[in-house]
Amino acid sequence: MKLILLIFILLAGHAQADDLLHVGGAELEVHFDDGFDASERQVVTRWLERYSQALAGLYGRFPVEQARYQIKRASYGKGPVPWAEVRREGVEGVNFYLGKELSSYSLMADWTAAHELSHLLMPYPGRSDVWLSEGLASWYQGILMFNAGLKSEQALWQGLIDGFSRADSSRFTGRLSQASREMKSQHSYMRVYWVGAAYYLQMEYALQLHGEQLLAVLSSYQSCCRNDSSSKTGREFITALDEQLGMSLFSYYYDKWRDSEKMPDVSSALTWFGVSQEDGQVVLDKEHISAMRRAQLYKYPVEVPKSRLLALGGRRPK
Ligand SMILES: [Zn+2]
Repeated sequence: MKLILLIFILLAGHAQADDLLHVGGAELEVHFDDGFDASERQVVTRWLERYSQALAGLYGRFPVEQARYQIKRASYGKGPVPWAEVRREGVEGVNFYLGKELSSYSLMADWTAAHELSHLLMPYPGRSDVWLSEGLASWYQGILMFNAGLKSEQALWQGLIDGFSRADSSRFTGRLSQASREMKSQHSYMRVYWVGAAYYLQMEYALQLHGEQLLAVLSSYQSCCRNDSSSKTGREFITALDEQLGMSLFSYYYDKWRDSEKMPDVSSALTWFGVSQEDGQVVLDKEHISAMRRAQLYKYPVEVPKSRLLALGGRRPK
């Protein structure tokens, strides 16, 4: 009897994945709870594959060597993905809670997978520094959808600008580290998510002034440190990025931003990337230099924007 129980526990602990994806050097298990039929499973797996490819496409590799997606049915909430959470214990991954009416179109158009998968780029930094993690996921969610051809560049920036203004109108007045620590009780989500995202915009601006880009630093970080642990303090993460970069740029801004009591001014960064607003609508500067600077935010190695290729073609000697 005891032996049967032991075998059962061992089997349950090593449950076979329903699907196995190989993306960007990683093995990704997909586990379905009961109640998903064959066609639903196919649609969901294809959705996870596309977003996993978009994540791996940022710098050419998936951030962890192994990940597990657990697919469950949501008991409440609206839309195709009413709820999702990153799982850090054991094999890292994401639990997705899906709605009843699933279509490929509605899943692909939803931002949840882009956000949750982007969390895997870094370890869990602890509650006071969760703005670093929510910020990174909020920064990359639009970029992943843009790279996957599921969002325009215009819509990507509109999402960021709208998020920044939501952070600006947040009623929480304490420091960002406090807003992070008390996010659930104070409902300071918008401040944490979007000031966090703005930190990475500011970092990209500072990095480009030094001829660097965030995805290059994250790529080195992946090679040296990402698979060490599923949790590191925010300070440890930032210090590791600075070590990869060879200067204390991340920690300089980290120290300033964690104590900030409102949305820091990112207007210089937006101007650098050729992003302005007219009546609340984002206007992107199509000049080559602005397009090149923005292209460095989306991929490493950088993909040269088409407008730049056309310009080079135009100037080619006959
Ligand atoms: Zn998140």
